[in-house]
Amino acid sequence: MMPSAPVSTTAHPLAADSAVPVMIRSRPEVSGAVEEMPTSGPVVDRFGRIHRDLRMSVTDRCNLRCVSCLPDEDVTFLPREQILSYEELARLARVAHSLGVTSVRVTGGEPLIRRGIVSFVEQLSAIGFEDLSLTTNGTELVRLAPALASAGLHRVNISCDSLRADRFAEIRRRGELGPVLKAMDAAEAAGMLPVKVNVVPIAGVNDDEIEDFAEFARSTGRTVRFIEFMPLDGDGLWRRDLVVPAADVLARIHERWPLVAVRPSGNDASQPAERYRFMDGEGEIGVIATVTRPFCGTCDRLRITADGFLRNCLFSHDELSVREVLRDGGADDEIALMIRKAVWAKLPGHAINDPSYLQPARTMSMIGG
Ligand code: SAM
Repeated sequence: MMPSAPVSTTAHPLAADSAVPVMIRSRPEVSGAVEEMPTSGPVVDRFGRIHRDLRMSVTDRCNLRCVSCLPDEDVTFLPREQILSYEELARLARVAHSLGVTSVRVTGGEPLIRRGIVSFVEQLSAIGFEDLSLTTNGTELVRLAPALASAGLHRVNISCDSLRADRFAEIRRRGELGPVLKAMDAAEAAGMLPVKVNVVPIAGVNDDEIEDFAEFARSTGRTVRFIEFMPLDGDGLWRRDLVVPAADVLARIHERWPLVAVRPSGNDASQPAERYRFMDGEGEIGVIATVTRPFCGTCDRLRITADGFLRNCLFSHDELSVREVLRDGGADDEIALMIRKAVWAKLPGHAINDPSYLQPARTMSMIGG
C-alpha cells in the first residue's frame, strides 16, 4: 500500500537499528537577548507573538503505529521515571495559566492510555482554562468519554486517516475503524462538541478519500481537518512529494461542493486550521497547511513534552528542560521564567522549507502533536 521507498534514505535517528538513543538532550542555553525579555505581563516572544496556547503531552507511548508517526516495530519509549507526574504537569499548567495561557490541549503519544487521565483532566479543568481539549486516536474514547466530559473536558480531536476499514488498519498498523467511529458518537453523546476529525492525507496512500472525508463532514456535522504530512514521522517515510498540499485538498472539495472561507475571529486568528464551510450550509472542513502555507506569524503555541521539556515549535531542535526545576523544589517564579525563556527563544518561523532543514530527533508522538 505504501508508495515506493525513496531512492536514497538517511536512517532516521529513531529508527529501530539506530545507534542513537531515544533520549533527547536539553540545550538549556537558548538563544536570544534574554536581558530584553519582559518578566511580567503576557508570555511574548521577540517578534511580539503572545502565547496563550499550551500543548501538554502526557505520554510518549501509543497503542498504535500510524505510518505518519511511528515505526511499526521496536519503538523505544522513555523510562517511566523521566515522565512528569500529573501533579508536576498540573503545576506547570497552573503557572502557565497565571501567565495568560487560556487554552490547553492534552495530547501524546496516546493520552487516553495513561492511567489516571480523567483525574488529570479534572485538575486542569479546576484551573479554569477557557478551552480544554484533547487529541486522541479514539481507541479508548467510548469507554472514557462520559467521565472525561464530567471531568470538564470541552472538546476532542479524533484522528482517523481512512474511512475504509481495510486501509484504516493498514495505516494504523493496529486497531480498527469501527471503534473510532463509535468514539466520535460517544464524544458527541457526552456533549464534547464539535468533534473534530484529524486526517493526514498522504499521496498514494489515502489521498483518494479527500472527497469521502468532505462528504463525511457534510453528513455528520463533524469538522474534518486535513493536516499536511509533516517531516516528523518515525519511519523515514516523509518526502515532499508525499505531502498533499492544502490548496489541492481545497480545490478538489470546492469543485464538488463549493466552499466559503470562515473568517477567523477571536482566538481563531491564531489557530492553525484555515476553516471553510460548505456554501450550501452542510458542515465545515479545515486545512492545516504547515508545510505549504506556514502560519508561524500567528503561532501562539508552546509545548511541554511528557518528559518535561518546553518546546516553542514542533520543528525546533532546541528544548528547555523544566523537569529539574519541578523536581528540585523550584519556585513557581522559576517555572514561569523558564516558560518565558522558552517562548522568547522562538524563531520567526519553522525552517522546514529550507534545503538545510534537518528533522528533529523527536517524532510527532514524542513531541505531542
Ligand atoms: N494519539 C493521538 C492521536 O492519534 O490523535 C495524539 C497524538 S498524534 C501525534 C496527534 C496528531 O498528529 C494526529 O492527528 C496524527 O494524525 C498527527 N500526526 C502524526 N504524525 C504526523 C505527521 N508526520 N504529519 C502530520 N500530522 C501527523
